[in-house]
Order: sequence, then C-alpha cells, then structure tokens
Amino acid sequence: MVRRIFIAGNWKMNLTLAASLELAKGLKEQLAGIRDVDVAVCPPSIYVQQVAASLKDSNIGVGAQNVYHQAKGAFTGEISTGMLLDVGVRYVILGHSERRHILHETNEDVNLKTLAALASGLTPIVCVGELLSEREAGTTEMVVREQFEGSFANVSADDMKRCVIAYEPVWAIGTGKVATPDQAEEVHFSIRNLIEKKYGKEIAESVRIQYGGSVNDENAKEILAKPNVDGALVGGASLKVESFVKIVKSA
Ligand code: PEP
Repeated sequence: MVRRIFIAGNWKMNLTLAASLELAKGLKEQLAGIRDVDVAVCPPSIYVQQVAASLKDSNIGVGAQNVYHQAKGAFTGEISTGMLLDVGVRYVILGHSERRHILHETNEDVNLKTLAALASGLTPIVCVGELLSEREAGTTEMVVREQFEGSFANVSADDMKRCVIAYEPVWAIGTGKVATPDQAEEVHFSIRNLIEKKYGKEIAESVRIQYGGSVNDENAKEILAKPNVDGALVGGASLKVESFVKIVKSA
C-alpha cells in the first residue's frame, strides 16, 4: 500500500494577517506543480478564513490548530467544527503538545475533539509524543500508547482510516533537536502496530503518520525516507516560503 506523503505547516501563534497572506501566496505560486504530495497550512484561527480564500484554487489545503467539540452555544472564545468548515478549513491539528502541556488538554479532551472533527467531516491530525524525561525514563512507548488509546477511544474503523497521526517528541519541538530517522521510525512502527491491534492490518497500512519536531529543509529527506514516516508536521520551517517549499519538494 502506497501512502501519499502529507506535509502540513503549523504556523502556531505567529505572523500578521499580511504576512500570512504573503506566505500563502508564495506557497501557492511555488507549489503549483506539486501533484503527488498532500500539502496543508494551519494558520492562527483568526486568519484561516482569509488564508483559505487565498488558497481556494490551489493544491494547498488549510487546517486549524484547534477546535471545540460542541457544535454551538455558550462556550465563550471557542470555535466549532462547523465554523471551520464554513470558511474552507479541511484539517484540524488536535492534541498538539503545546495544548497538552501549556493548556492542560487531556486525552479525554483530545478524544472529544477527534470525534467531533470526524463527525463533521474535518480530517484530524492527532498529535502524540513523549517528554524528554519520559524518553529518558524509557517510557516513550507507554506514553504514546496511552495517548493513542485515549485520543482514539470510540473512533470507528471507518473513521480511523481518515485520521492522520503526528508523532511529535516534545523535546524535539522548536528546539532544533530533531529525532534521528531511526528514533522516529521506531515510534512510528510502534504506532502502526497499535493501529493494527485495534483496527486490523488494512487500516493500519492506510493511516498516515507524520513526524514533527524541528523538521527543516536539511533533515526532511532522510526522515521522510523511513518506511513508516508518511509526512511531516512542520513548525518553524513552515513560516518561510523557501524552507517549506524545499521540505515539500524533498518528499
Ligand atoms: C510543531 O509546530 O508541531 C513543530 C513540530 O514545530 P517545529 O517544527 O518548530 O519543531
């Protein structure tokens, strides 16, 4: 089974509206010929509508960085799946380590959001990954297993096929300390085994598992060459046209 490589840029809480539109314009121009890699950008939610409009006739999808699980009502400050879809968003990053560790999102929160995203038709990019202390304690596999089981509780086999998982070791995010291709492959392989145990081989083979953590235009090719690495979730290097385009092209 050949899984299409999927490169997504997580702009986090960066850029102005003008800079977001400038970046989108540059990517649209320079990635116009790319057909065999899926590409998405995830701007801050306040800019998604305009970025999505500017990328409308392009091969670049737009994602959000978070969503709330309820459809509507008295949830001040939150945004629903329907609102994201309404303005042209197709993907949503869920359970990013910054949301888990700074904003204290639990596996249960991530699970509610994953179920809501799937029910709405959005494609969730669900992040898992261990802290440095957890890796050093030898508990990486256990931590990732708990995050996987918690985040995907009650997700049906049909829905699982539509999910994307991003393995993002927390110690590698924004630190410049990238996991070695072998370290990434080892965890990706164990995630694929978790999917297989719960959903069977066919689905495990179809789910895309991205690596995230200090991916740049110099290290992307080697990481993406690993058999269980199906793409990348890119933070810092997605903020510049040149580096993001190089990463996409190296795939
Ligand atoms: C991320 O934003 O998910 C990320 C991996 O960031 P960076 O590439 O900057 O480490």
